[in-house]
Parts: sequence; structure tokens; C-alpha cells
Amino acid sequence: MKKHNFNAGPSILPREVIEGTAQAILDFNGSGLSLMEISHRAKDFQPVVDEAVALFKELLSIPEGYSVIFLGGGASLEFCMIPFNFLEKKAAYLNTGTWAKKALKEAKAFGQVVEVASSADANYSYIPKGYTVPSDVDYLHITTNNTIFGTEITHDLDVSVPIGADMSSDIFSRPVDVSKYICIYGGAQKNLAPAGVTFVIVKNEALGKVSRYIPTMLDYRTHVDNGSMFNTPPVVPIYSALLTLRWIKAQGGVEEMERRAIEKADLLYGEIDRNKLFTGTAATEDRSRMNICFVMAPEYKELEADFLKLATERGMVGLKGHRSVGGFRASCYNALSKESVQALVDCMQEFEKLHA
Ligand SMILES: *Cc1c(COP(=O)(O)O)cnc(C)c1O
Repeated sequence: MKKHNFNAGPSILPREVIEGTAQAILDFNGSGLSLMEISHRAKDFQPVVDEAVALFKELLSIPEGYSVIFLGGGASLEFCMIPFNFLEKKAAYLNTGTWAKKALKEAKAFGQVVEVASSADANYSYIPKGYTVPSDVDYLHITTNNTIFGTEITHDLDVSVPIGADMSSDIFSRPVDVSKYICIYGGAQKNLAPAGVTFVIVKNEALGKVSRYIPTMLDYRTHVDNGSMFNTPPVVPIYSALLTLRWIKAQGGVEEMERRAIEKADLLYGEIDRNKLFTGTAATEDRSRMNICFVMAPEYKELEADFLKLATERGMVGLKGHRSVGGFRASCYNALSKESVQALVDCMQEFEKLHA
């Protein structure tokens, strides 16, 4: 049976990325060696990093003066690297969920942290608006897509300070005005590659402004100056990322990814709103296109396990909601086809016929 992969992360990748990676693991570029058994400094591997960086810049229209680096440690390590590298006195954080809060917590070890707004009062079901960002902060940190709670900031904020953004789960799902950011980062395992690599887009002139000592491995300059080759980078996930970037380009770039994301999200939210058995959990205007959270309507609460069972029988994978929200979460990343979303909608309608 065809599987419909709604996993939140690690998550679905384009089939050709998986096949291309599998092929390179067996025989990299016809070298007779596996991608896993060559030096990261081999002459065949440098072009992989170079092309991945070039495609990052091309697909996101990254302006001059920015570097793209590939690191280990996950997005979670960036929660401390951002303040280590950019926080001299004071930083602002927008608290929109579990990941945002973890980033905020790390920053507190480095300087004064202003929580400009929080949606913790309503289980992070909305994106706060109308807050003011102090003009004297080193940066404002945001989480553009809240993977767990299903809310998303789908535009570049209009603020007068530079922005640092965790885009782990919505990178390459829309065009971004990179010039507004000093740093954009994310773990690859949501929308780009298998787990193991973290991408960081960093504004070069924002580096070297803090007075503290930064340990070598945690200093962005180390990795910028050495083209992600200061130490051994995660070779296999970087190769997969390259294949995903090529795939995005061939599909029509981030504009096309955004068009598809909107189309898929409209289809599923349309059904959630229409079908009286289900109800969405996020504020309508802040709904994520990437992670679509919904629960059983109160009068059908006891049917939750039954719906998951039916969905599983129909080939749906990864639909169980995160424990902090409950219910269901359908992650609709770039590689997920509209057919999979339609299959879920069909399943919800089948369930409605059985129970309503
Ligand atoms: C998954 C996720 C993280 C954590 O990523 P790791 O690579 O596991 O550290 C951080 N932020 C967001 C928005 C995420 O979705």
C-alpha cells in the first residue's frame, strides 16, 4: 500500500533524493567508493558543498555579504550559538512555542533578554502581534514556523532591528527577504535532508562584534572562514541536501514551493473547517502551511483513536499530534504531494460518513 508520510521530522523527502543518496552511498560519482568512505576533502566532495551553497544563494536570492554554512549539532545548538556570536548586551525574543522558548532560555546566559511577547497564555495557538521591539537590542529572535503548535509567520517581519530566525520547518517553502536577517538557521530534517546537518545563513558583517571569547567550534567565523570544512562536516546529509536543492530548483523554486504549500494547506484546512467531526487548533490567521494541527470536535472526542486507526489503515503515517497539543498533526512539507493531502481529506470524509 502507498504510504502517506505526514511525519513532523525527520520527515518526507523527495523520492529521487532518497534514491540519489542511496546510489551515492553505493558508488559515489562512479568512483567505485561509497560517499561514506571518502574524505570530505576529496576533490569530488568539494563541488558538493560548493553547489549546495550556490543553490542556497540562488533559490533564496541571498544578497552579497552573506555566508551559508553547514554544521553539526542541530538547530538546538544554534540556540546558544546565536547569542554567543551576536548578543553583546540585549536581545529580544518572540515566544511562540517550545522551540522559541528553548532558544530564549539559552540566550539568558549571555546577556539581557527581553521577551517581547508570548502566546503561552493560549497554549501557543496564535502568533502575538502589536508588540514593540526595543530599538537598542542586538537582534530579535523569531521562530517562523512553530512545528509543534502549527502556527507560522509567513512573511518577513517589519522591524527596525536585525532578525535571527529559526526556519527549521519552513525553509524553502516561501521566498524570504534575507537582507532583514543577520542569521537564518535550521535543522535539515524537516524540509531539506536527513538529520545530521544544520544550515546557517549568516550576515558576515554582523560577526565579530561581541567582546567575549567564543570557543572555536561555536564561532561562526571558524566555519565561514573554512567553508564548512574546519572539521569533518556531515557528508551524507549535505549530499542529500544538495539533491533536495536541485529538486526544488527543477520544480520551479521557492515560489512554486509556496504555491503548492498554500494549495495543500487550503485543501486540508478547508476540510477541517467543513467537517463537523474535526476542529483546527491554531488561530485561523496564523495557521501553519507546514504543520496542520487539528483535534476531534468536543462532541466526538472519544473517536480520536478510531480515526487514527482508520487513517493508519489507509496508509497515513505520522498523524498523531504532539503531546502538547493532542489530536492530529499533518506535516505537509515540500516533498509531500497534494495526492497525499487529498487521501487524508478522503479519509476524514469517510470517517464522517461512518460517525456523523
Ligand atoms: C525540530 C525543530 C528544532 C530542533 O531541531 P534539532 O535539529 O533537533 O535540534 C528547532 N526548531 C524548530 C522550529 C524545529 O522544528
